Amino acid sequence: MHEHIRPRKAIASLPVYAAGKPPAPADGLTPYKLSSNENPLGPVPAVTQALAAVDTLHRYPNPGAEKLRAALSEHLQVPDADIVTGTGSLGALTQIIAAFAGTNQDGTADEVIYPWRSFEAYPIVVGTAGAASVTVPLTAEHRHDLDAMAEAVTERTRVILLCTPNNPTGPALTHAEVEQFLTKVPAGVVVVIDEAYLEFVRSEDPVDSLALYRTHPNVVVLRTFSKAHGLAALRVGYSIAQQGITQHVRAAAPPFSVSTLAEEAAVASLNHLDEVHERVQQIVEERQRVQAGLQGLGWPVPESQGNFLWLPLGDHALEFAHAAGVQALAVRAFAGEGVRVTIGEREANDRLLALCGTYSFPGVNRLTE
Ligand SMILES: *Cc1c(COP(=O)(O)O)cnc(C)c1O
Repeated sequence: MHEHIRPRKAIASLPVYAAGKPPAPADGLTPYKLSSNENPLGPVPAVTQALAAVDTLHRYPNPGAEKLRAALSEHLQVPDADIVTGTGSLGALTQIIAAFAGTNQDGTADEVIYPWRSFEAYPIVVGTAGAASVTVPLTAEHRHDLDAMAEAVTERTRVILLCTPNNPTGPALTHAEVEQFLTKVPAGVVVVIDEAYLEFVRSEDPVDSLALYRTHPNVVVLRTFSKAHGLAALRVGYSIAQQGITQHVRAAAPPFSVSTLAEEAAVASLNHLDEVHERVQQIVEERQRVQAGLQGLGWPVPESQGNFLWLPLGDHALEFAHAAGVQALAVRAFAGEGVRVTIGEREANDRLLALCGTYSFPGVNRLTE
């Protein structure tokens, strides 16, 4: 009976988003979810208090999240008209793509360029809009190939996505690299800098995306409360761009995207940024500890600037993920490529390191073959 109901072609061919799975229990082991880059420390206590104080659940939220935008405007020193909020940064990105890329009346698709492998949601957001994905492979060092991305620009290119640090591989772009890249991009192409993991970056010459947005009318900065602020369940994120862009993004944004709970939580978290940054610092130190441990084992792990590490296991990715599962650790496997592991609780990280110590990395340290 369902054969009469057909989706748009673009929808029928979308990849399915494989959300991180919860860990399966194992005898005597506390299970840990290291598969979704969540913040194991959760939000600061002020958030819980702010949520409990909300007494307007029967009212619609602020239509433009004015309170949150005012708080962000003050913290970031940007005009509130340059900020558009969304249901997570994924919601904010969906608005941007909807505003600038789709299918034209003559049937041709606008092109959106992004690195690959990168965030799994990109092909879904682009495809849903009716635009065409143009993916540019990462370099052998698991970084964006910015030269190849600039060369991929055609007269159909409308948007380019940069993901820094790159999910799932970890390396961050430098400010000099992005500045140089922008000189090669036509003024009419929107460049989105996805900074979901900004707060975890400790690299030299980090991207100063706010400086770039101030000087480039085609730059959009994308940020979220899901990772550093530990508010993934509430779905709140935002984009920052000059008004030549935000006027169109706002037009494409569904009204009431950000719930009252999400808005109050985000504002409370912004008001306790020192505590947020202390928690982030703990995670960064754990990342550095696990990264050093893996490097000590000879594992060729790229230097991650996010709250996760990339294990380039190639054809052994699924096998390793299974071995982690036996240890009650849920990780994210990309068949044939590698495994992404979120930095979690200390015990979870120790268990991961112990597992890696007993597992011979293909091509390195072969103990068993
Ligand atoms: C987690 C993540 C996001 C977004 O998350 P939201 O929860 O929608 O804010 C965006 N980009 C990247 C690269 C991510 O890893």
